[in-house]
Amino acid sequence: MAQATHAGEGRKPEEFRNYAAEARSSVKEFYRLNHMNQTLDFVLAKKKEYLTLDRMEMTVWEALEYMNQLVDDSDPDVDFTQIEHAMQTAEAIKAAGQPRWFQLTGLVHDLGKVLCIWGEPQWAVVGDTFPVGCKFSDKCVYPEFFELNPDSKNPQLMTENGIYEPHCGLDNVHLSWGHDEYIYHVFKNHIPEGGLYALRYHSFYPWHKEGAYTHLTNENDRECMKWVKAFNRFDLYSKGDARPNVAELTPYYKDLIDEYAPGKLRW
Ligand code: FE
Ligand code: FE
Repeated sequence: MAQATHAGEGRKPEEFRNYAAEARSSVKEFYRLNHMNQTLDFVLAKKKEYLTLDRMEMTVWEALEYMNQLVDDSDPDVDFTQIEHAMQTAEAIKAAGQPRWFQLTGLVHDLGKVLCIWGEPQWAVVGDTFPVGCKFSDKCVYPEFFELNPDSKNPQLMTENGIYEPHCGLDNVHLSWGHDEYIYHVFKNHIPEGGLYALRYHSFYPWHKEGAYTHLTNENDRECMKWVKAFNRFDLYSKGDARPNVAELTPYYKDLIDEYAPGKLRW
């Protein structure tokens, strides 16, 4: 597991997600495994396995505590615990005067990493996501590793649109399996659409940062991308801030959870 770099305070945006500057061989190895194994069949199998949400029932707060044991292998920036990262993201959203449901989105956005605890390898939980079932974009990180993906040898899956209709909308596109898709399904009935987009697509950097895959998006995706982009700044740049005081903030966030997603949720 990668030992994260020290998250100093007051870092500039260009100092985050800097894969090239440091020789982070563990990040590279992570993406080799990720790109090699995330096939269309793999994604469909994981959806079938997990999206029934019949593994556990726990409150959002219980989930935050349950998750606190993880360190994210794919992320060059973080050395915070999951609960600290959750609160820090939510606090950044709160400080910017954003709505309460968006603060909750910040608090829960990485709870899908619970998949790691259930035995999924890191490459099937975290890291940037990308569509499967169609041609891989060069705008994905380490695109050279897609050669190792068996789908790249299937000409039907390697056309521009692959198994999809042009502009079918991201809701109809299978992204590589990970914590975004999972947590979206857990919260589907609890927060407004902008928050759901942020949950579901915050790791879809090839789309929201690089502008790839627009041939698969529809009007609503284009409209809601603003929430994903807004969210991403809070997720990313909050990582350099001071550690949140978890004990002090706990009552506020327990109230926020009760407002939108009270009681036990299905996981
Ligand atoms: Fe995430
Ligand atoms: Fe995050």
